Amino acid sequence: MVDGLGRNIDYIRVSVTDRCQLRCVYCMPEEGVPSLTHQEILRFDEITRLCALFAQMGVRKVKVTGGEPLCRKGLPHLIQQLKAIPGIDQVTLTTNGVELARSWDALCQAGLDGVNISLDTLDRDLYTRLTRRDRLSDALEGIRLAAASGQIPVKVNCVPMTREQLLWDVAELARDLPVHVRFIEMMPVGLGRDFLSIPAAKTRAVLEEHFGPLSPAEGPTGNGPAEYCLLPGFRGRIGFISALSHKFCQDCNRVRLTATGFLKTCLQFSHGADLREPLRAGATDQDLLARMAAAIRAKPSAHHFDGPFTQEDERRNMSQIGG
Ligand code: SAM
Ligand code: SF4
Repeated sequence: MVDGLGRNIDYIRVSVTDRCQLRCVYCMPEEGVPSLTHQEILRFDEITRLCALFAQMGVRKVKVTGGEPLCRKGLPHLIQQLKAIPGIDQVTLTTNGVELARSWDALCQAGLDGVNISLDTLDRDLYTRLTRRDRLSDALEGIRLAAASGQIPVKVNCVPMTREQLLWDVAELARDLPVHVRFIEMMPVGLGRDFLSIPAAKTRAVLEEHFGPLSPAEGPTGNGPAEYCLLPGFRGRIGFISALSHKFCQDCNRVRLTATGFLKTCLQFSHGADLREPLRAGATDQDLLARMAAAIRAKPSAHHFDGPFTQEDERRNMSQIGG
């Protein structure tokens, strides 16, 4: 579907839970957030019905997210159901990887098309400070297993915050393993507002200081606006996603569905439409399609993260939105 500004919306990020085993400092408070009840979160059949309607409107790619999506029991069943929707070409997952090994085979059998694994550092102490959990070895096990299986594309996503992260170590995962490593600017959403966002150009300079010049490269097909580079001898690419320093809102192709069934049309704003209430009140497909279309038509033109916080801005943390 085309939004009010002519942008083609073909990608949805679907959050399936607000829970997580980690407590990344820029995403979740140390004490966690009050967990949603079973009643509050959408059931798999509800998510599937809504995604089938989104597919009718032109959505082709679904990214399953959270919280930590693998905290949701039976996730491979949902992947299988989403894969069966006519019109959906691609179902991918973003995960912290710490429990990926346990469900890897089931996810692949369900037809998962790709996985993004979040990892901000290879330093165990720093990982433990940044995520408030000592799970680096589990996350690495997930990355290695996914890469070794060779079944689907694997991307590692890293949010630069401090030089201590030794970003070149993270980048070297793309030398040693068939994975693409992407550096993503911190977005001033929720707890992320308390952190300095390191511009992609600066991250690139840090990497070039270490490795020498990066040469531009074609990226793997994906859903987003990453710019990719090559390093000699590397098996995967190095990518940069600079949503803050290079606004790409004019090409935005995405909307989000929260775990509670709210259709969120822009990361920055709280705008959108509740779909859960009408869904559970027996709304017809036509009613739901009309609500979705109205919300998408009114999708904000651009974020203004560079301006002051306003009443309309999103107040939830990333773990409640899905990233
Ligand atoms: N738990 C899963 C994970 O970590 O991949 C999925 C949910 S998490 C919210 C999705 C992505 O959002 C992660 O890669 C995380 O690093 C990123 N993220 C969280 N808060 C962020 C922020 N303020 N700015 C940029 N990225 C953020
Ligand atoms: Fe959990 Fe992902 Fe948020 Fe970290 S970024 S706290 S892993 S939801």
